[in-house]
Amino acid sequence: SVELRDVHLAFGRNRVLRGVDLEVPAGSTTCVIGPSGSGKSTLLRVVNRLLEPDRGDVLLGGRSVLRDDPDELRRHVGMVFQHFNLFPHKTVADNVALGPRTLLGLSRDEARSRALTHLESVGLAHKADVRPSSLSGGQQQRVAIARALAMDPRIMLFDEATSALDPELVKGVLAIMRDLGASGLTMLVVTHEMGFAREAADQVAFMDQGVVAEHAAPDVLFERPASERLRRFLSRVL
Ligand code: ATP
Ligand code: MG
Repeated sequence: SVELRDVHLAFGRNRVLRGVDLEVPAGSTTCVIGPSGSGKSTLLRVVNRLLEPDRGDVLLGGRSVLRDDPDELRRHVGMVFQHFNLFPHKTVADNVALGPRTLLGLSRDEARSRALTHLESVGLAHKADVRPSSLSGGQQQRVAIARALAMDPRIMLFDEATSALDPELVKGVLAIMRDLGASGLTMLVVTHEMGFAREAADQVAFMDQGVVAEHAAPDVLFERPASERLRRFLSRVL
């Protein structure tokens, strides 16, 4: 599980996180929705320690991680961004094998075989030895997912993983994310895809002005929003 307790974070005078409480139970998928600028990406960056909160706590498996080595923590937290940032001069398989080799110390053969396993799971084993530039955006994003999975993470974070993709490529990536969630991975997914949140999430958190303003099972949150501001947000995006 991952848990944020009363997390505060400001950039100068801009108080971006103002007491975030959120729990992602082990093996479940939580989607985070909310207006632009509400702090969703900042929240993910706190979970993988790219940012340090001013106040509050972050727990992984029930244990506070804020005193641990951030590099050590990041090995256990997979992150998939809007822009996938694959190394253009390396093959697809080498991109996926790089983390296991350099951070986990696997041998070349072990890392390659692990890379192939994860490429297989995103349907791209046949592309192992090409360069990323010969793949579609959707395929490149699937490689980025395989790369994160190859580190055997305890939790996967997704930040708008499909928003840079052409519309026809979105479905394939969302299908893989849904399968990962169904397979029991713990996932925290920031998304504008309300259909995905509705179908794939165990829990949906609505962020507004730096707090989780509402969270509930998707059918409850979408059908019976409790607050006016969630109602207003949903009427804009649905
Ligand atoms: P979007 O839906 O547009 O991605 P978001 O909910 O992810 O929005 P954040 O990226 O978390 O929003 O940003 C929240 C606020 O924090 C914004 O006001 C943004 O300008 C500010 N912010 C984010 N990162 C930084 C930074 N590194 N330095 C200063 N301000 C930042
Ligand atoms: Mg964002």
